[in-house]
Amino acid sequence: MIYNKDMIESNNVKVLYGKDAVLKNGDLIRSLGKKYLIVCGKNSARLSGALDDVLSVIGDREHVIYDRIRENPEVASILEAAGLLSDSTCVIGIGGGSPLDAAKVIASLKYNPAETEEELYAQKWENRRLPLVLIGTTAGTGSEVTKVSVMSKANGRKSSIHNDLFYADYALCDPKYTFSMPYRTRVSTAVDALTHCNESYFSNKANEKSRGFALQGIGLILSGIRHLDNINERTCDDLYRGSLYGGLAIDITGTVFAHNVGYYFTENCRLPHGFACALFQEDLFEFEMHSSKDYTEAFFEQIGMKKEEYVELINSLLPENDIVMDEETLVRILPRWKDNGSVNNTLGKMTVEDIEKILRKKFVKNR
Ligand code: NAP
Ligand code: ZN
Repeated sequence: MIYNKDMIESNNVKVLYGKDAVLKNGDLIRSLGKKYLIVCGKNSARLSGALDDVLSVIGDREHVIYDRIRENPEVASILEAAGLLSDSTCVIGIGGGSPLDAAKVIASLKYNPAETEEELYAQKWENRRLPLVLIGTTAGTGSEVTKVSVMSKANGRKSSIHNDLFYADYALCDPKYTFSMPYRTRVSTAVDALTHCNESYFSNKANEKSRGFALQGIGLILSGIRHLDNINERTCDDLYRGSLYGGLAIDITGTVFAHNVGYYFTENCRLPHGFACALFQEDLFEFEMHSSKDYTEAFFEQIGMKKEEYVELINSLLPENDIVMDEETLVRILPRWKDNGSVNNTLGKMTVEDIEKILRKKFVKNR
């Protein structure tokens, strides 16, 4: 087993990081099951080469591949995949955050059953789960190391569950699987990783450890992000490790308002998750500069950039958007951020009125 703890250390998930992490850990993967349920999306597991590597190490062991997990995974597909578990003894999730989040829940449903969306969200997840291995192909959500699963309900709303049962047994992390990402996905996922570090730093739950992870993540992601047009092994390594640090950071603190407001724009404007959350990083820094000036100035000093430079860098990575919101829509959607956990988790006393100001300034055009 390769267990490079100098690279990424998690108290909850054994992170096996490095080139050929799957191929070098064949014995470990074979020791976890006699029959595998492999959970992935339509293309990424195959394009990245991760599925081939998994199939080569499990050899003639029985397996079922469920490859119908889509972006922002739907609860319905997770329940469908759990229906295929039968006598499987191990679940392997391969992909970006969507298949990994799905795999966490599918492995847990075996002994914590649910037949419907309501039952799934009502589950207390008190029983054990099947052995779970996660193999990432984006850099990214950091889902490999978090206890979070973000799913989409039948009404289209994204809703997360946080539970210790969702920590994988092993995360097999090989940056080579991120090479095949299309450019837009590469940028969106890199920006997502950066937002995790930013938001964790400005969370009410931030502590020395989470800030350390966040700053380490930002350093790595910034060094990778400058070469998004011309990626190489080093760039992929920086971005992937950076994304895992982001995951470790938000696993302690959670994300703040920007992520939750971003969900609305993924749901309604089909913006990829990373771009949607990054839309509000500038507003996060503005808010914090007013509510926690010294802390915010210390942040920019530590990352070695001025606020304006950092905002410009993030905004330069976002696609053009022509989002316009009318007054009626704004009034209708605002209640979802009243007493919202992510808004309350934002350092400083953020309120739904602050969200209103941000959305109004950005998207409501004066008639
Ligand atoms: P994703 O939704 O898993 O995948 C986005 C797209 O990229 C899909 O079309 C996917 O293809 C493709 N793709 C992924 N890896 C690829 C590769 N190596 N080569 C080619 N195509 C590839 O993307 P994500 O941004 O990683 O995950 C976003 C989800 O994670 C959201 O639901 C978000 O809310 C959640 N999230 C979770 C956490 C957590 O802690 N659990 C944290 C933040 C965000 P396929 O469809 O073929 O897979
Ligand atoms: Zn995110």
